[in-house]
Amino acid sequence: MTNITVCSRFRPLSSKEKRVHGDSVCIRNMDTETFIFKDEKEEELVFSFDRVFYEETVQADVYEFLALPIVRGAVNAINGTIITYGQTGAGKTYSIEGPSILESDDLQKGLLPRVVDDLFECVKSADESDKYTIKLSMVEIYMEKIRCACPVSVFKIMIPLDLLDLTKDNILIKESKVQGIMLSGVTEIFISDPAEALQSLSGGIANRAVGETQMNMASSRSHCIYIFTVQLELPDKRVKTGKVILVDLAGSEKVEKTGAEGKVLEEAKTINKSLSALGNVINALTCGPSTKASHIPYRDSKLTRILQDALGGNSRTALLCCCSPSPSNAAETLSTLRFGARAKHI
Ligand code: ADP
Ligand code: MG
Repeated sequence: MTNITVCSRFRPLSSKEKRVHGDSVCIRNMDTETFIFKDEKEEELVFSFDRVFYEETVQADVYEFLALPIVRGAVNAINGTIITYGQTGAGKTYSIEGPSILESDDLQKGLLPRVVDDLFECVKSADESDKYTIKLSMVEIYMEKIRCACPVSVFKIMIPLDLLDLTKDNILIKESKVQGIMLSGVTEIFISDPAEALQSLSGGIANRAVGETQMNMASSRSHCIYIFTVQLELPDKRVKTGKVILVDLAGSEKVEKTGAEGKVLEEAKTINKSLSALGNVINALTCGPSTKASHIPYRDSKLTRILQDALGGNSRTALLCCCSPSPSNAAETLSTLRFGARAKHI
């Protein structure tokens, strides 16, 4: 049975939003779990989540509530996934990376560098007889193709050009009884300390940005997935595995039906399809023990298939619904909040 935590996070108003609407916001803070949302017609709706993070929330609070239990679980062979959902500009990447993965101060440091730090802390403080290895990989899903944002080859060897070639989709999803879902063709690197992990991740993130200009592909049109695999070899040689997966989803905004055509429309349809597949899987999982594993539609998208073992089975999932507080984004915010509410109770 999946244990899902759903939170919403409102970033501060942007300067552009302030220029248009002044200081007005579409939410009214009630308490740490509940707020009132004013929709486009000025109607008031009440939303409740496991936790609401308002604009003054610091990154450490989000981390402690959402991610720390998942990191601790992974060290004990329980898989966990942290997903950021929301329209482009709502704060998904800020929540995961912070302003910069390498240079952020402690106040702004995102979930990803904190996961790295604490994963190593947990492993270090484990019994000496426990042998841990931590592996890291980072992939992107664009138009249902999995692309390796292969950190090590980017950072240390210089980037082979074929890594930027989206037509190269030779990364396959495989499933093994022992190891669960695996990606073949993806570089997995062993990391031995937090600094090394962050260097490699920053290489992967830079690669994503390079890809963006060369292919005119905005990162908001792809899902970015960070996978930490923690393996524990017990004294009796049995191996236990736990994963921490962070997912920076593609923007959930709706594309104007009339305006969009060609590539933009195709991208929008593909994103929409994978985000609804994710919603459907989460709903099926939280439906209760009566839902048989065979009825969970993991295979409807690459995203849900990659996340299969991290979402289902003995696992924890945290969904962070990122929102703008501006009335100008009320329609998109409402759709994000509804996604979160559906994930929680159906
Ligand atoms: P997304 O990844 O959802 O498209 P970003 O994370 O890139 O959105 O955020 C858009 C902008 O808002 C960025 O300039 C980011 O620094 C800023 N921002 C987002 N969330 C916060 C926050 N909680 N506090 C301060 N600035 C934020
Ligand atoms: Mg982003």
